[in-house]
Amino acid sequence: MTEAIPTKVQCCIAGGGPAGMMLGFLLARAGIEVAVLEKWPDFFRDFRGDTIHPSTMELLKELGLLETFLQLPHQTSPQLAGMFHGQEIVLADFSHLNVTAPYIAFMPQWDFLNFIASQATAYPNFHLLMETEVTDLVHAKGRVCGVQVLHNGRSETITADLVVGADGRHSVVRKKTNLKNITTNTPIDVLWFPVPRKKTDPSFSLGYMEAGQFMVMLERDSYWQCGYVIPKGAFEDMQQGPISKFHESLQALVPLDDDRFRFVTQWDDIRLLSVTVDYLSVWHKPGVLCIGDAAHAMSPIGGVGINLAIQDAVAAARILAPKLSGGAISEDTLAAIQKRRMFPARVVQRIQVLLQNRVILPILHAEKLTRPALPFRLLQAFPVLRRVTAHLIGIGIRPEHITK
Ligand SMILES: Cc1cc2nc3c(=O)[nH]c(=O)nc-3n(C[C@H](O)[C@H](O)[C@H](O)COP(=O)(O)OP(=O)(O)OC[C@H]3O[C@@H](n4cnc5c(N)ncnc54)[C@H](O)[C@@H]3O)c2cc1C
Repeated sequence: MTEAIPTKVQCCIAGGGPAGMMLGFLLARAGIEVAVLEKWPDFFRDFRGDTIHPSTMELLKELGLLETFLQLPHQTSPQLAGMFHGQEIVLADFSHLNVTAPYIAFMPQWDFLNFIASQATAYPNFHLLMETEVTDLVHAKGRVCGVQVLHNGRSETITADLVVGADGRHSVVRKKTNLKNITTNTPIDVLWFPVPRKKTDPSFSLGYMEAGQFMVMLERDSYWQCGYVIPKGAFEDMQQGPISKFHESLQALVPLDDDRFRFVTQWDDIRLLSVTVDYLSVWHKPGVLCIGDAAHAMSPIGGVGINLAIQDAVAAARILAPKLSGGAISEDTLAAIQKRRMFPARVVQRIQVLLQNRVILPILHAEKLTRPALPFRLLQAFPVLRRVTAHLIGIGIRPEHITK
């Protein structure tokens, strides 16, 4: 997959995650000479979210790729539901959305990224450089004009009319640009782990809530991807105790038969997601732009991070492609991308923070649960509201479209 390092491209993208790969593909499709630089040798790595939302599938439809995409192994969920103290509440019902794929598709992120890569590499002006780590930015005449990369142990320079930081929430581009990052106080972390799934288990994704416990279980073919929510920093204390105590509390929350939580044999089987919600007040400087998690790291609530990153990429490609053909990009152009995408990202972040603080944290600190939190009671009493939550999660605010 890796090719020789080009010395000059029109657009150089740091990071081959959902934002970087989609932007690279769309710019290549528009005829731009583009390089995506990914520090790892492949896309196969730890669980990082597997949710492909209706908004992303609409984009794939507009690109004429949805049918091929849906031939890849995946599971679908037309609803998201929560089990509150034994009582089931539907939280979002996607089946009413006016889209071709009115459901959430669960697919390993590496399959999605490999799919986009296979489409992009059809364009000779698309360069995917794996095992290529961006280490620094190159400046000239008061603007960023390229990147310094480490590849095969050698430091090399790639110059570009525009550098895009799509290198995630620990973005090197963001750090090297000194853009101001505003962090929201986040009171939760999530422990992710898989447990075996049986054909007789319920067939859609569920959240389970009891006093002191909150867990989501995402349906995959042969296993459940479990996300156990804990107060921030609590994992260190948990690890001092035996894992059997963890098994017991999981089994009390979700009584799976055959003691399946024992599949998690040691603390090392668990992946800690230190939840962060942050955003850049300004996403750009002359010659450089940040998008996706590099511009706004999302909480996992609603599983919207991948899809928002892709929406950023679509807006960026639409605005950048005609301008890149003319050479260096003005700050006004970069500001237009931020103006378009910051509002949807911030609204979703505000809702996530509200839910973390007002719904999830009280459950984690509760000694006894009497009745579901107000948002759950409203969803139960007025089923039409489940369409609103489905729209917010599945389509989002200000959805982007492929225009050419
Ligand atoms: C455990 C976990 C579970 C999650 N669950 C969900 C979920 O269910 N649904 C959902 O929508 N979102 C989920 N998310 C969030 C989601 O993964 C992100 O919001 C989304 O991937 C952001 O996309 P991105 O392209 O902006 O950044 P990323 O996906 O982080 O991609 C950044 C890429 O840049 C590469 N990179 C980093 N630094 C460099 C460098 N210096 N040089 C070159 N390459 C570099 C990284 O290797 C990576 O491939 C989860 C995240 C985690 C960690």
